Amino acid sequence: MLKAALMTEFDYDYLIVGSGFGGSVAALRLVEKGYSVLMLEKGSELKAADFPESNWDLKRWLWAPLFGARGLFQIRPFRHLWVVAGNGVGGGSLVYANTLPIPTERFFQSDTWASLADTNWEDDLREHYQTARRMLGAAKSEVTTPSSLLLKGLAEDRGIPEAFEKPHLAVYMGEAEKRVPDPYFNGEGPDRIGCHRCGGCMTGCRYDGKNSLDKNYLYLARKRGLELRADAEVVKVSPLTEGGFRADCLMGARYFGRDRWTVTAKNVVFSAGALGTNKLLLKLRADPTGLPELSAQVGHRVRTNSESLLFVTIPGTDENYSTGVAIDSILKTDEDSHLEVVRYGAGSGFFRTMSVPHLGGSSPAGLHAMLIALQFLRHPLRVIRALFVADWARQTLILLYMRTIEGTIKLTRGRFGLKSELHMGEAPRARIAEATSLAEDMAAKTGGTVMAGVAESLLNVPVTAHLLGGCCMGETKDTGVIDNRHRVFGYDGLYTVDGSTISANVGVNPSLTITALAERAMSFIPDKSATEPGAWADS
Ligand SMILES: Cc1cc2nc3c(=O)[nH]c(=O)nc-3n(C[C@H](O)[C@H](O)[C@H](O)COP(=O)(O)OP(=O)(O)OC[C@H]3O[C@@H](n4cnc5c(N)ncnc54)[C@H](O)[C@@H]3O)c2cc1C
Ligand code: SF4
Repeated sequence: MLKAALMTEFDYDYLIVGSGFGGSVAALRLVEKGYSVLMLEKGSELKAADFPESNWDLKRWLWAPLFGARGLFQIRPFRHLWVVAGNGVGGGSLVYANTLPIPTERFFQSDTWASLADTNWEDDLREHYQTARRMLGAAKSEVTTPSSLLLKGLAEDRGIPEAFEKPHLAVYMGEAEKRVPDPYFNGEGPDRIGCHRCGGCMTGCRYDGKNSLDKNYLYLARKRGLELRADAEVVKVSPLTEGGFRADCLMGARYFGRDRWTVTAKNVVFSAGALGTNKLLLKLRADPTGLPELSAQVGHRVRTNSESLLFVTIPGTDENYSTGVAIDSILKTDEDSHLEVVRYGAGSGFFRTMSVPHLGGSSPAGLHAMLIALQFLRHPLRVIRALFVADWARQTLILLYMRTIEGTIKLTRGRFGLKSELHMGEAPRARIAEATSLAEDMAAKTGGTVMAGVAESLLNVPVTAHLLGGCCMGETKDTGVIDNRHRVFGYDGLYTVDGSTISANVGVNPSLTITALAERAMSFIPDKSATEPGAWADS
């Protein structure tokens, strides 16, 4: 039985939809302020033993509930980009590569949101970035691996040794195999075991090394009274006539025949990630009994980090490129662009089934398949060897290139759920000349072959792990979905706190920024005691 909140006519003071970075920060800060909080998460609660040994174990790895797979990794193809995202208690932190950079000035000063800051975004967010790094346990990586040495060498070859950097990682780097009392929260957090450098962070950490949200924000929030229900998808939110909201949810781990359940809350925080929040808000805006007063800007200004994902597969290498954490080195090629070397754990070779020779440069859409076939015919042995290496993860360098380039798409409602439309600027492109040149240099250094996913090579459509925006900030309902304190225009008591609120091109891995923005948003909500009758309330 779910508990009823004390001293209110609602079941809870706050309902939080989704348990990723934004939702987890909101949960901890709201329970600390004395509110009763329920968090509903569509995915399952997965523990170390539930994660797959490799991504060939599709049932444990993929989120495809229609086919009975309730894993942590979701692939969602759209016309203009393919999105990968995390599902489950802890959201994207279960599947992410732990890298937590602070963006460059360009992000904070972008025209798309600079005027909405209290002073300027860099100053407004400074203390919140520090809190976010402390809470997520981010520290500069000291791990050296064969691939980080290669990237360092590439920086030197290009005459830019200073451009090689070690990232901040949210990983407990203590002794592997040894369980120790919580090293982060004065003993209040969970016991931990040091990272095994197994490289499996993106298929779920099976050794307790990763500082996923269930080890920090969510752990502490639950200790302080957060109620969290997994396998609980929010499908409708509607305002009650007397204030507050009613949410309808589908409960259970089946796909068909889930139980419908209703809960009321005075406030609702949408934290379902850019995919989930845009989908839900677009649906509710179109429903006269949902939230029809939402801004028409919902789904607008959706961005990626302008990524290009390439593989350099090195048949016959003696090195094991799957050793280390998922990302351990960065090459900053200029103010706007950088390259990260990424890895999967040994045995995780699923992506070879979706890879083909990389096509650089631009070519007419109709010719992509023919050009790929031509590459195959020109170097048949080379391509076959790259496709059939003994262990793809051990013998492949995954190169993730990102840059701060403006250009957005729009998400709208289609016949099969969400669909993408072009909005401002050109369609996102997978082929970026500098990314190709870096991958070719790496291939030349290692004797490898540059490959890419079918979406990138065949369709020139980028795959992004960083879908952002769609519920951007604005001055008014005409220009944004939320104000600069994340309050949804049109409804008192609704908030959006997740990657959908990122209102400029962050250009780097975004989870730290989502966390810092969430910390800031929550700092404006007064303690519950201050809002009780007779007390002064900050509004
Ligand atoms: C493979 C991979 C690697 C990545 N590596 C990095 C990295 O190194 N660094 C970095 O900064 N970022 C990384 N990211 C991106 C990062 O994971 C996301 O940016 C981040 O998780 C977004 O946080 P969020 O708060 O927006 O929500 P999310 O973390 O996406 O969480 C949203 C949650 O809401 C749930 N949900 C959705 N709809 C509903 C609903 N209707 N009802 C209830 N629950 C719902 C979802 O199941 C999900 O668990 C990576 C992503 C992937 C896929
Ligand atoms: S490298 Fe392995 S042990 Fe370390 S955080 Fe990643 S998955 Fe966990």
